[in-house]
Amino acid sequence: MKNKKVVVKVLAPKEGSIAGAMEKILRELGEDPAREGLSKTPERVETALRYLTGGYKMDVKQVINGALFAVKYDEMVIVKDIEFFSLCEHHLLPFFGKMHVAYIPKQKVIGLSKIPRVVDMFARRLQIQERLTQQVAQCLQEALDPLGVGVICEARHLCMMMRGVEKQHSGAVTSAMLGAFRSHKETRDEFLALVAQNSKYGD
Ligand SMILES: [Zn+2]
Repeated sequence: MKNKKVVVKVLAPKEGSIAGAMEKILRELGEDPAREGLSKTPERVETALRYLTGGYKMDVKQVINGALFAVKYDEMVIVKDIEFFSLCEHHLLPFFGKMHVAYIPKQKVIGLSKIPRVVDMFARRLQIQERLTQQVAQCLQEALDPLGVGVICEARHLCMMMRGVEKQHSGAVTSAMLGAFRSHKETRDEFLALVAQNSKYGD
C-alpha cells in the first residue's frame, strides 16, 4: 500500500498537490525544504493529512456494515471512554479526548465495536467539537431510531494549549442529548452518573 502511494506521488507533479503547497509553506517559514530532514516532509504531511481527514470518504452504511440487530432490550447501552483525535477547522491543529455514547434501543441495537468507528468517521474530518458531538448523536439517532441518544465529549485543544491562549479553558466538554435523553431528566442523570464513574467528567 505504502509503496503504491509513493509511486503515484513521484509521477504526479508536486505543483497543485498538498505536498507542493507544503513545500511553499516550509519556504515561507524560512526553512529550506531541500535539506535532508525536510526533503520528504511535504509528502509525509500530505499522507498524514489525507489519513487524518479520511472520514470524508467514509459513510454510515459502510461503517455500520449491517451490524444492526433486532432485539427486545430497552435499557441504556453505554460505551464509555472512546478515544478520538480530530483537527480543529480553525487552525488545523489537533483536538483530542474521549467520547461517551449512550442510547436506549427501541427495536434495534448496533454492534458495540461500531460506535467507536462512527466516532472516527466524524473525527477524521475538519471539525469543531460541538459539531462533532452533534453529528455522532444524530448519526446514531438516524441509524438506530432509538428512544434516545446521549453523547458527551471531553477534549483538549492544541490550538489553545500551544498558542498559550486561555489555557484554563483548553479542556472543553460538549454534549448532545436527543429523544429521551433530552426529555427525561432521570435518563440524562443516569447517563451522567454512569459517565462520572472513574471519569474526569463530574469532578
Ligand atoms: Zn482551533
